[in-house]
Amino acid sequence: MNKPADLKLTTVPMWINGKAVVPAGRMGEVFNPAIGSVAKQVPYADAATIDSAVKAAAAALPAWRDAPPLRRARVMQKFLHLMQEHQKDLAQLVTAEHGKTLPDAMGSVQRGIEVIEFACGIPHMLKGEFSENVGTGVDCHTLRQPVGVCAGITPFNFPVMVPLWMFPVAIACGNTFVLKPSEKVPSASILMAELLKEAGLPDGVFNVVHGDKAAVDAILAHPGISAVSFVGSTPIAKYIYETCAHHGKRVQALGGAKNHAVVLPDADMEFTADALIGAAYGSAGERCMAVSAVVAVGAAADPIVSLLKKKAEAIKIGPGTMEGADMGPLVSGVHRAKVKGYVDAGVKEGATLVSDGRGLVVKGHENGFFLGTTLFDNVKAGMSIYKDEIFGPVLIVLRVETLEEAIALVNANPYANGTAIFTESGGAARRFENEIQVGMVGINVPIPVPVAFYSFGGWKNSLFGDLHVHGAEGVKFYTRTKVVTTRWPHQDTPAPGFHMPTLG
Ligand code: NAD
Repeated sequence: MNKPADLKLTTVPMWINGKAVVPAGRMGEVFNPAIGSVAKQVPYADAATIDSAVKAAAAALPAWRDAPPLRRARVMQKFLHLMQEHQKDLAQLVTAEHGKTLPDAMGSVQRGIEVIEFACGIPHMLKGEFSENVGTGVDCHTLRQPVGVCAGITPFNFPVMVPLWMFPVAIACGNTFVLKPSEKVPSASILMAELLKEAGLPDGVFNVVHGDKAAVDAILAHPGISAVSFVGSTPIAKYIYETCAHHGKRVQALGGAKNHAVVLPDADMEFTADALIGAAYGSAGERCMAVSAVVAVGAAADPIVSLLKKKAEAIKIGPGTMEGADMGPLVSGVHRAKVKGYVDAGVKEGATLVSDGRGLVVKGHENGFFLGTTLFDNVKAGMSIYKDEIFGPVLIVLRVETLEEAIALVNANPYANGTAIFTESGGAARRFENEIQVGMVGINVPIPVPVAFYSFGGWKNSLFGDLHVHGAEGVKFYTRTKVVTTRWPHQDTPAPGFHMPTLG
């Protein structure tokens, strides 16, 4: 621990049954990545703490699921206003613990707030279907009912937005919720819990527990939890999916990514380079929708590489609170060492190092977890810098001759979160949209993150499960359908018999 022993650390509490609590047990460290030192400590939940959170959520469930959807939506409306008022406070917590720049953090909080706006319309989304006379005098209708106690397990890179993909929709649908945010960025979830309480949410409907694998495993095994939403890296997503299936839980587990941007020779190169620079290096590349691989087709390669080099080297790097900073530090020293290791590997494997960020020193922040922007050209599909998700400020360029080859390359990659094409050709874009096997596609849009009233999710190793998050698919995930067939006996209807009824 880098913090001098005589300085008392702030403890980030958990939130159980409407109260901040600090259970006895293991503690973890929360860093300020711009300074490179420990800033806070956070308690880690054991199975007993998880059980107390689940019990609180289970006790709150009957009244909350029976509250009219309109009343639940009104709580969401108050929460929405409070979140708007506190947008900057939340963004400051994100910057302090994750390191991304304050404007970037503000944007991510805004995208999360938009899911609350969507959840305010839940009475409409919960409407069922009705068919009159499916048989003589027989009607049929559907209900969408909450699934019960739901859990969310979230990654470090979006401490506000990713939890907001989940719990506003789950709660508006009538479920209660236990959130386990990343232990690296725990504070924003507690502020959101306080704001939910201020908005009138009954105690126990929303709970926050902290911790690592032990806390996650206790969530996955707990018989009181009906559904789990996970966002994080692919190996853990797969583990969550398999373990939840083993325990009979509904699960959606979103994983990692390697997002390709295909650049055709007819693209507007200046526009494309600007779009790619923001998408590759924004948030220091720690975005699941970051563009990490450019696929340059034919004559697009030389001009796009030279523009990317110029723009990557002009990026201003500093603490997220610095006026005018484009990019902040990485989240931890361990992660920076891992990303640096990939740059070393890329050089060894024979890729052309166009810009090298390894030597960067940020004056006054020499111990911060900074790494400069790195650009590789002539990368081949077998290299580790192509095969693995690096999750840092490293952009690689692969060269191919045709659109067909570019599509085949993207489709052969096991990740399939997002992708983009840059072109002036409607025909090429249409073909790409049709043939590409990826969940979210941008046409001249580098980070095609769907708005809240659409659903977010990848394919293949980027999502284990059937349903994407938020939007209509989020409502489906957090509800179960019940089909009710009704007959009111009267003199004209025949009495039920012993044969399979055909109702006609
Ligand atoms: P991570 O997988 O290490 O951690 C995610 C969550 O899982 C955390 O809450 C963590 O405490 C928990 N966890 C970690 N190790 C575990 C283990 N062994 N067993 C059980 N639980 C464990 O991910 P991260 O480093 O926090 O986040 C970065 C990753 O998340 C990247 O791979 C990124 O692509 C991905 N991500 C994906 C999306 C998406 O929408 N697909 C969005 C954001 C981030």
